[in-house]
Amino acid sequence: MASAMDVPQATGSQGEFRDKLVAEGLLIPSSVAGVTGQGPAFVDLRQRLDARISKLVADEGAVAMEFPPIEPRHDMESVGYLTSFPQLAGSVFAFHGEDAEALALGEQAHAHQDWSGHLQSAGIVMVPAACHPVYPALARQQVPPDGITIDTGPAWVFRHEPSDDPSRLVAFHMRELVRAGPADTVGAWRDAWRDRALQFLQSLGLPAVFDEANDPFFGRSGKVLARSQRAQKLKFEILVPVGGDHPTAVASFNAHGDHFASVFGLGPVHTACLGFGMERCVLALLFTHGTDVSQWPADVLAELS
Ligand code: ATP
Ligand code: ZN
Repeated sequence: MASAMDVPQATGSQGEFRDKLVAEGLLIPSSVAGVTGQGPAFVDLRQRLDARISKLVADEGAVAMEFPPIEPRHDMESVGYLTSFPQLAGSVFAFHGEDAEALALGEQAHAHQDWSGHLQSAGIVMVPAACHPVYPALARQQVPPDGITIDTGPAWVFRHEPSDDPSRLVAFHMRELVRAGPADTVGAWRDAWRDRALQFLQSLGLPAVFDEANDPFFGRSGKVLARSQRAQKLKFEILVPVGGDHPTAVASFNAHGDHFASVFGLGPVHTACLGFGMERCVLALLFTHGTDVSQWPADVLAELS
């Protein structure tokens, strides 16, 4: 468990931006860093943005699939998430004991002592990316020969990276398009969506730029994985300033090759995904255009009407 000491603090303008969002009721902090609620104006913007993304993807013919923010532990184990990102994973433990142990647990909990020793794995983990439950679901049906696109809708996901930075949350909405199909078509699909998504975010008045990226793989061997991911150009991001010293990724594009397809037996296909970080997109809009939405440029408001 990270202590308050471990929590990266928002610096300079980032801290000011967070304080302003809280003071104006856009964000609702809690006693735990990164566990942040959203006030009515923030929710309204997130839903308007989501509706606008629905319009953007309308011609994709995507199949809607929604999943809870939890998934079988077995699936996370199978894809190697706990090797690559053990620091980000969340796991659900539950109580399976009898009366006497329940009493002890209750007393410890009431005294805010550590009661985790009474729990055992419930066989469930928190979903870390909206696309993850899609691959085992595709294994239950046939991927058509010319491929399939799935739209996850705005799914709650979990990553244990507590921070004071308003754009680094422990739970947030990720909306993903997932493509499974013949290898030679999936890369072109991802590149086309990278360009469309960049244009889309720029049409909202955001100073969005595209960059090659890598995931935050854990540990020393993770550095090698990150270098290889970059060398193979497997991950792209769209970056926008959100109050910090560096622009922040508001959307990401990943090519997985046959990784998920071979783990779940999807046949001779490759997969790729495009994920919008919904809260980060809203924060980028608020940072760029100001927290008084009525004062936003008319063309941006028209896009989100
Ligand atoms: P995977 O590679 O496992 O498929 P992914 O590529 O879908 O995952 P990321 O690229 O890591 O997931 O994240 C997608 C988007 O989610 C990012 O572009 C960003 O906007 C948003 N995001 C990531 N981490 C956070 C966070 N801690 N708080 C808020 N938004 C986040
Ligand atoms: Zn994904």
